Amino acid sequence: MSGRPAVNTVILFDLDDTLYPEADYVRSGHRAIAQTLASRTGNPTDSVYAALRYDYCKFGRAGLFDRIVAAYGLPSSLVKELVRTYRLHTPQLSLDPRVRDLLTDLRKQHKIAVVTDGDANMQKEKVQALGLAGLVDLVVYCWELDARKPDPGAFLHATEVLGGKPETAIIIGDDPTHDVEAALKMETACIRVRAHRFAEIESLTRPALYTEIASVLDSRAAIDRVGDMRG
Ligand SMILES: [Mg+2]
Repeated sequence: MSGRPAVNTVILFDLDDTLYPEADYVRSGHRAIAQTLASRTGNPTDSVYAALRYDYCKFGRAGLFDRIVAAYGLPSSLVKELVRTYRLHTPQLSLDPRVRDLLTDLRKQHKIAVVTDGDANMQKEKVQALGLAGLVDLVVYCWELDARKPDPGAFLHATEVLGGKPETAIIIGDDPTHDVEAALKMETACIRVRAHRFAEIESLTRPALYTEIASVLDSRAAIDRVGDMRG
């Protein structure tokens, strides 16, 4: 077991596309938007949802609400309300039971934090829906600390609160900029999850201690690899 992380290694997990697929949240948000637009237009929710999803799949998320509001002949002032609806809706999400087991298992040996970027109210809804609060030691919202990723401030804060140090902590995340560059700046190890949106993007700028996994479910072995690299 020599070289393996000691008890109380702080493991810093990203949330979106690391612990669950963000696409699930996007679908849930679109469902909430479709309900709002259906009540405004009298169209069935399913048909609004299908139109919204088609536009999203074809043209992406930038300008999506502007396009859908225009398509239904609604005032552009409604876009702001839709953004609010999207961010504050109660999402329909469930945590993969294997991720739940992973966190429970890791927590027997390590301190675990979720460090998440994005509108804090929106991220809190996700954490609540996934039931994460009881599975980790700490949840940190980067925007509340005015430390948007790849600013390592929120990761450093979590490490300190949990009694760890950057030289023995590990960031596990999917984003080659937000998570990997934060690890580089913080001079800590990074386990990159090559899954979902950014899977094909190489981490060209990376910390000295770096390894990749195809799924967060492979974290346990990767944490041991990092321990071996640290010697
Ligand atoms: Mg992410």
